[in-house]
Amino acid sequence: MRITDLNSGREIGASCMLAEFGGLRLVIDCGMHPKHAGKQALPRIDKIEGSVDGVILTHCHLDHLGSLPLLVRAHPGARVFASAATTLFARRLLSNSIQVMKRQREETGNVDLPLYVDQDVERVENALTAVPLANPRKIGRGGEEILLSFHLAGHVAGAVGCMIEHRRRRHFFTGDVHFQAQRTVGGADFPRQPVDTLVMECTRGATASFPGHSRAKEEQRLIKAINRVCDGGGTVLLPAFAFGRMQEILMLLDEAAAKGDLADVPIVASGLGMDLCDYLDAAAKKTKQVKFNRQVLRDLNVLPLSRRYVQPGKNLPERGIYLLSSGMLVEKTPAWRIAANVLDHKENAVFFVGYCDPETPGGELIGMAPGGEFKFKGLDHTATLRAEVERFHLSGHADREELVDFAKSLAPKDLVLTHGDPPAREWMKETLAKELPATRIHDPEPGVPLDL
Ligand SMILES: [Zn+2]
Ligand SMILES: [Zn+2]
Repeated sequence: MRITDLNSGREIGASCMLAEFGGLRLVIDCGMHPKHAGKQALPRIDKIEGSVDGVILTHCHLDHLGSLPLLVRAHPGARVFASAATTLFARRLLSNSIQVMKRQREETGNVDLPLYVDQDVERVENALTAVPLANPRKIGRGGEEILLSFHLAGHVAGAVGCMIEHRRRRHFFTGDVHFQAQRTVGGADFPRQPVDTLVMECTRGATASFPGHSRAKEEQRLIKAINRVCDGGGTVLLPAFAFGRMQEILMLLDEAAAKGDLADVPIVASGLGMDLCDYLDAAAKKTKQVKFNRQVLRDLNVLPLSRRYVQPGKNLPERGIYLLSSGMLVEKTPAWRIAANVLDHKENAVFFVGYCDPETPGGELIGMAPGGEFKFKGLDHTATLRAEVERFHLSGHADREELVDFAKSLAPKDLVLTHGDPPAREWMKETLAKELPATRIHDPEPGVPLDL
């Protein structure tokens, strides 16, 4: 196998990998860099020489899916293989991505935007092919043939890792993985037999896990903190990714409410995340890959975000729990707008429940001391931080120790690191070299082919 990481840097960025087996060419994921806009956010799909015979989409986060319409436009013959659940979500998320790019064009004047249009998304929809978990799929060209099988990866609804078998050699790609069960998806169900190659994500490679930490305890801590703030008459803002995290939190709130453990205050949520509740509900009914019932919205009496404009700096007239995207408090998103009404008041709180890049407004807020000044560009408001800001560790990615254990059980001849920032890769390289002395560890240079 020859693989080329088409992400533009050794970072999380835009996931995209070219895997070549003789003349047979596969692309695994085709994401968009969350921190860049326009052409800069694309992976180097322009470097692919010749035609692509198949595309594998591991899951629907935009750092894996966001550039797929351009790849499909350039390689119209290629099928896109995904789990049944993923085939249900892709179109909705890509349509939203077009809307976001259109807004960016208005704001920045970048004439390249949007990078694709509805017709391209429709092409993706037509190319999508569900591969059942129990039925490996043969993909061939000329004399070459591979066997592709999917394995649930936890992480987010529909996520899979994939095994590619070629001439008796086995290559496993984790995609993004979480081994512990969450509310909307079970934990990863990966094979544990030896393989020739393991391509492994390492998102949390630089994050030490702390003793005594468990997801259940962290969830309890979150519910307690929400109740404390609400009982004190404050508002809790929960910035959350629309896909996956928002539905996880809704289920958690619903569970607490059913036990009588949740403050009796209005719950406000809207936007793409609410729309995706319908998609997860449909996926749960059609496949066994997702657990979600949109009844939670009725049980919790979830209200849409009021369109009435509240002047930045002024407290919200309606106190309660605001579950809004984006998870990283990206500018101009609902969570960011509401933060402009939350931060100045000491009875309020912002609780982060997912990964926050340090270079985003959310990351900036997490690093800010009380009394700090937080600028809302475009709203003409600078908040003085008086609200409580706290992080809750409910990641959808595996701990680094779990990844090392997983790698040991596969005992690969070659291990390729991907989907991690430089410090995460460093820890992984060092640790894996000790734990798997017979394995060759690779941290491939972006765009440079690696023969395995
Ligand atoms: Zn992901
Ligand atoms: Zn990812």
